[in-house]
Amino acid sequence: AQPVLAVVGRPNVGKSTLVNRILGRREAVVQDVPGVTRDRIAYDALWNGRRFTVVDTGGWEPGATGLQGSVAAQAELAMSTSDAVLLVVDASVGATATDEAVAKVLRRSKRPVLLAANKVDDERLLAETASLWSLGLGEPHPVSALHGRSSGDLLDEIVGSL
Ligand code: GDP
Ligand code: MG
Repeated sequence: AQPVLAVVGRPNVGKSTLVNRILGRREAVVQDVPGVTRDRIAYDALWNGRRFTVVDTGGWEPGATGLQGSVAAQAELAMSTSDAVLLVVDASVGATATDEAVAKVLRRSKRPVLLAANKVDDERLLAETASLWSLGLGEPHPVSALHGRSSGDLLDEIVGSL
């Protein structure tokens, strides 16, 4: 079976937009209202001749109550069901308490964890990206899922980790 990448993070950070960017087509549902469950969350992706499955966890409905618990539960599930996890953070907001709670869960992962600093639409947000080193998940990779900025570099990192 092909390797699985799970994309986790708070609602509205741009997970589905980034999944579509990874796929090179629009399949994951992008929306401003978070929390809507979708049926299809796993997609076939191809980069540099490497096939893998991308799971957009935004459609998961974990049992835990509260945003922090839900996203942390999402991360737990992602770690146990995938070969690598991509945590998406909104660089225009910076690391929130929820991001920190999720990062804490992911730091226990035995599999690779990558950190995407999304919504870096222009150079000005690169400084915010550097502050995300504080999450303890290694190098934050700046990307703009919306405009495609640096998404090729992130994809190189992803397939390199799978
Ligand atoms: P999800 O809930 O994490 O799946 O987030 P979505 O992919 O549905 O995106 C939430 C909102 O953020 C939408 O309005 C997107 O257009 C917007 N968005 C996603 N990526 C970017 C980005 O790179 N830059 C900006 N400015 N907005 C983005
Ligand atoms: Mg989504």
